[in-house]
Amino acid sequence: MNPTAPGMTDSRNTDALIGLPFNDSDDVLRTAIDEASVPALLMSMVHMTGDLGLLDELPRPFMLIPMDLQGGMNEPDKQAVRDRAYDVVREYRDRGCPPPFVPDAEQMRVMLDVMADGQVTDEYIDYVAADLRLTDADQNGPPLTSTPEQRSAFPVVVIGCGEAGLLAGIKLQQAGIPFTIVEKRDGVGGTWRANRYPGCRVDIANQYYAYSFEPTDHWTHYYSEQPEILRYLEDVAAKHGIAEHTRFSTEVTEAVWDDSESVWRVRIRAADGSAEELRARALICAVGQFSNPVVPDIKGASTFAGPAFHTADWRDDVELTGKRVAVIGAGASGFQLVPAIADDVERVDVYQRTPQWMAPNIAYHDSIPDGARWAIRHLPYYGRWLRFLSWWPLTDAAEERVMMDPGWDDGGLSCGEANRGIREMLIAWMRAFTTDEDLLAKVIPDYPPMGKRMLQDNGTWLTTLQRDNVELIRDGIAEIDAHGVTTVDGVHRRADVLVWATGFDVNHQLGPVDIRGLDGVSLNAAWGESPYAYLGVTVPGFPNLYCMYGPGTNAVNGTSIIYNSECQMRYVMACLDMVIGAGARWAAPRPEVCRDYHRRNQERLKTMVYTHPNVVSYYKNAAGEVPTLYGFRIVDYWKWTRRVDPADYELRT
Ligand code: NAP
Repeated sequence: MNPTAPGMTDSRNTDALIGLPFNDSDDVLRTAIDEASVPALLMSMVHMTGDLGLLDELPRPFMLIPMDLQGGMNEPDKQAVRDRAYDVVREYRDRGCPPPFVPDAEQMRVMLDVMADGQVTDEYIDYVAADLRLTDADQNGPPLTSTPEQRSAFPVVVIGCGEAGLLAGIKLQQAGIPFTIVEKRDGVGGTWRANRYPGCRVDIANQYYAYSFEPTDHWTHYYSEQPEILRYLEDVAAKHGIAEHTRFSTEVTEAVWDDSESVWRVRIRAADGSAEELRARALICAVGQFSNPVVPDIKGASTFAGPAFHTADWRDDVELTGKRVAVIGAGASGFQLVPAIADDVERVDVYQRTPQWMAPNIAYHDSIPDGARWAIRHLPYYGRWLRFLSWWPLTDAAEERVMMDPGWDDGGLSCGEANRGIREMLIAWMRAFTTDEDLLAKVIPDYPPMGKRMLQDNGTWLTTLQRDNVELIRDGIAEIDAHGVTTVDGVHRRADVLVWATGFDVNHQLGPVDIRGLDGVSLNAAWGESPYAYLGVTVPGFPNLYCMYGPGTNAVNGTSIIYNSECQMRYVMACLDMVIGAGARWAAPRPEVCRDYHRRNQERLKTMVYTHPNVVSYYKNAAGEVPTLYGFRIVDYWKWTRRVDPADYELRT
């Protein structure tokens, strides 16, 4: 492990996930308690004492709302819990930090009732308990039925070593399945290696945007910047010895199923142009949805005289200080980039076609104070409950806000009463940062909130747009020439550097990789503009092929992609075990099973804000479908991917 990553060392045991024993001074404890999330602290007190009565005695969270780790509690209530926590934590220390109390299902019910005010119903208990690591069920998945000898004779190739490919490697290794990861870049990290533009950071709290089986006490920020996330992925890869199994700077050009030998023939090309063929019994495609940057075809763009590059191909060699920079696109990437460079450049012109909604998040750029980090590291299950606070209000609890009310009509500005409430709250947030009505007219979207992924904002965006050296331009671009950009109103603005913050082609996630299954059918051709996969993982006609972050898996407004990847990988392992244990040649989902799943997902998405006619997004294909999105509840995805139903598969021996 990288010794500079605090808290992540080889000597750490799994207790690092739920709280390491401590013997610190009263002062250290007091600081930690003062800086802690009070709802998570309250739960940790139960784990330290086994005393559920504390939950009746003490104030409880008022309401769990996104991006608030204090559960909407007022100061006196928080202080009351902290005062009591001081006694509880000291006493726990003085008892030598014994193994914490682990509640049973009924006791969990009581704790969750207090934590989430009855929102978490019985069907969620197992799901939440697994994520809290009250059991190891999630980590281990169903018991393998195949033998170690069988698995050792079943080599797998993984395409891509981002968070999903890395996870695949870790799980294959643990199962004793030989594997090779092929990664086109020169190191692990995927999108976090590619996207290193200034200001790049995660938009899901790191407690949740992290592997569930790795400690999370080392993050320095609630929402870390790209270098820290990349270092995390590199550290995890090093800890698990994944680099030794990875061919870096090497691309997969094609993968063809050879049915006579029941293998995937995977053609790879190294950086020096040399080609080679790998043979694998199964193929895991972990290329992600954001590996194909889009540069729009704007008249004259190729004549621009200065450096021009995409945010995903950031040019470290281009000095921006004192330059005039044109940023085209004001989505998630442009939104992070512009404030980060505004201090250094002479000016930034931001070309925004459509405004985006911003989610208020005052802690977005905040570092985690030392005391709060101590609490994550040491207080039993505190870090796990902090994780719960990070995800619960954003995922299934947010369902009502994204459903379209068919009878609702306010000119397409919102899609229902709850959604309208969100719209008003978000506009009020913008008004807190500017009274400039011209600017507000440019930045307030005319489509319902949550129809696209929301941008996390602590006020930086509007503050930046009001700087003298920053201009937000809403007029369309007519033309680009050697020296700058001309908008449709005829205004020409000079630029020295052009940055394309114009996003990715998610509906063609394979990019140039040519995957051909039974009868030589091309996956790109089969998918066309509407990619599909059963549970987002397996595709009819493509034997032993598994997608990670495949079609139909993107949950727009909340879930951590890493969480979903863990669900997918548990399912992949179950599929592999089914094939290997049966001594079969291959398995592929029954076409009707996949068709039905895809149809149900798309039908449900038609009732959700993502398909609202006013929402224009990169998810939508020409037919207005959103094939890359997942529309059901996350608890369902967790359940559906926990084990494989052999009846869903065609198994060939
Ligand atoms: P994006 O959200 O798709 O934004 C692309 C921007 O380029 C939009 O403003 C788009 O305008 C504009 N654009 C595209 N073609 C254009 C054209 N021909 N003329 C003018 N403007 C044009 O892409 P992104 O910002 O790279 O983000 C993509 C996704 O990556 C995000 O949704 C998120 O999932 C992920 N991401 C996450 C983070 C993070 O915080 N962790 C950071 C970056 C990206 P329209 O809206 O009008 O199409």
